[in-house]
Amino acid sequence: MPKNTDSFVTEITPRSQDFSKWYLDVVRKAELADYSPVKGCMVIRPYGYAIWELIQQALDTRIKGTGHVNAYFPLFIPESLLNKEAEHVEGFAPQVAYVTHGGGEKLEEKLVVRPTSEAIIGTMYAKWIQSWRDLPILINQWANVVRWEKVTRPFLRTTEFLWQEGHTAHETAEEAEDETLKILALYKEMVATELAMPVIDGLKSESEKFAGALRTYSIEALMGDGRALQAGTSHNLGQNFAKAFDITFQARDKSVQHVWGTSWGMTTRLIGAAIMVHGDDSGLVLPPRIAPYQVVIVPIGKDNWRETVLPRAKEIQAALVAAGLRVTLDQRDERPGWKFSEWEMRGVPLRIEIGPKDIEKSQVFTARRDTREKAGVPMDGLAPRVIEILDDIQRNLFERAVRFREEHTQRVDSYDAFKAAMDGRPGFVIAPWCGSADCETQIKTDTQATIRNMPHAEVPAGRCVRCDSPAQAEAWFAKSY
Ligand SMILES: [Zn+2]
Repeated sequence: MPKNTDSFVTEITPRSQDFSKWYLDVVRKAELADYSPVKGCMVIRPYGYAIWELIQQALDTRIKGTGHVNAYFPLFIPESLLNKEAEHVEGFAPQVAYVTHGGGEKLEEKLVVRPTSEAIIGTMYAKWIQSWRDLPILINQWANVVRWEKVTRPFLRTTEFLWQEGHTAHETAEEAEDETLKILALYKEMVATELAMPVIDGLKSESEKFAGALRTYSIEALMGDGRALQAGTSHNLGQNFAKAFDITFQARDKSVQHVWGTSWGMTTRLIGAAIMVHGDDSGLVLPPRIAPYQVVIVPIGKDNWRETVLPRAKEIQAALVAAGLRVTLDQRDERPGWKFSEWEMRGVPLRIEIGPKDIEKSQVFTARRDTREKAGVPMDGLAPRVIEILDDIQRNLFERAVRFREEHTQRVDSYDAFKAAMDGRPGFVIAPWCGSADCETQIKTDTQATIRNMPHAEVPAGRCVRCDSPAQAEAWFAKSY
C-alpha cells in the first residue's frame, strides 16, 4: 500500500504529459476494460460495463420514445447476402471475418460475422413488407459486431464492439430523410444530456460516408487532446439497399415501389469519448448521469471507526439510495487518503467524508471531483442537497467542454492559416471547401486533418481554402480518432 496519496495517483501518467498513455492507464487502472487473449478484443470489466448499461438505458428509452422497437437478428450473414450491395461489400470487405467451418465440416457457403446488419435485416424486410400499410418499419437492435482492425485501442477501436443499430424502412424519400435527421438530433441531445458532451452535428463528405448510403450525418466531439471523435452516425440509405435486397411494397396508387431506408448507430466508443472529454491528470471524471457510483462515502476516524462512524455512514448511504442515487460505501481497511485518490482516479463525481467530529456537528464533508471544491453539508436535508450538487457537476462538465471546444475552434480563410492552425494548437478548423475529393485528400496529406462534417446546408459565400474555387460548403476539419 502506498505511503501517501500522491504516490498512488502518480501510477497514472499525467494527461498533460502523454495523453495516449494517460488514456490507457485510466482504462486499466480504473478497471473499465482489460486486454484479452484475443488480439484486438477487449474485456469490458464490471465498472466499465456499468457505464455502458447507463448509456444503453438512456439511449434505449429515447429510441423507444420515438416509436422504435427492439429486435434481434443473427450474428452470421451468408456471404452472398453481403455481396448484394456493391458499395457496401467493397467498403466492408477488408474488415470482414469469415466462418469457414462448422460442426467439423467445411461450410458450403462461408458465413460473415456481421460487421453491420443491413444485409441480413434488408433480407428480412423484403419478406415482411408487402404494402404501404406495413410501413414505416422502425426497428433497433442491440448487438455486437466485428470489424477486423489492425490497430486497436480499448473502446475507441476494437475488433469486436457493442452498439445499437437502427434500421428503418419508409414510403417516401422525405420520410427517410426526416428519420435520419430525427435520430441525429436524438443522438446530439442524448450525449449532451447524459455524457455532458457537446457535439457538432452535420453531413459527412462523400468520401467519409457509410458504404452504400446516400448520405451520412454524424455527431463529432472534441477530445481533451484536441482530436475529434465521431460519436454517432445516421445514414439515409435512399433506395440502395431496397434495390439490392428487393424490398418493395405496393404503394397507395397500386404501383410497386422500393422502400426508402435509414440506418444509424452508436457504440461502446462513447465510453472512450467520455474518458477523453472530461478526464484530468488524476484520472477519470464521470458525468453523474453515467457514473456507476455517483457518490462514494468514506468513513474517517481512529482505529474504532467501525464502531463509531460506520453505523452513521450506513444510514447516510441508505438515505441517499432511497433518494434514487447510486452510492458506494468504502469499508476497506485502507487509509482515507488512499481511498480518496482511488475514487478520484475512478471518477466518482462526489465524495462524502464522515468522521466523529462531523457526527457531533451533525454534518458531512463533501468533495466534488470536477472542481475539487469542498464543503460541509448538514445531514438534515442531505439527499436533496447532494442531488443539487450532482446536477451542478453535470452542468459544469458540459459547460467546461463547450468552453474547451470554443477555445480550440478557429475559422480560417487561407491555406497557410489552415496549415498553421493544424500545426499548432489542435482542434477544429472551420474553412470553406469546394466539394472536390482532390482538395479533401490533399488537405489530409498536408495536415492529417479530415472533414469531420458540414453542419450547415447553406452554400457559404467564400472560396475553397485550398484551391480558391467557389465554396460549396463550410466544413469542420480536425485530426481525428
Ligand atoms: Zn478546393
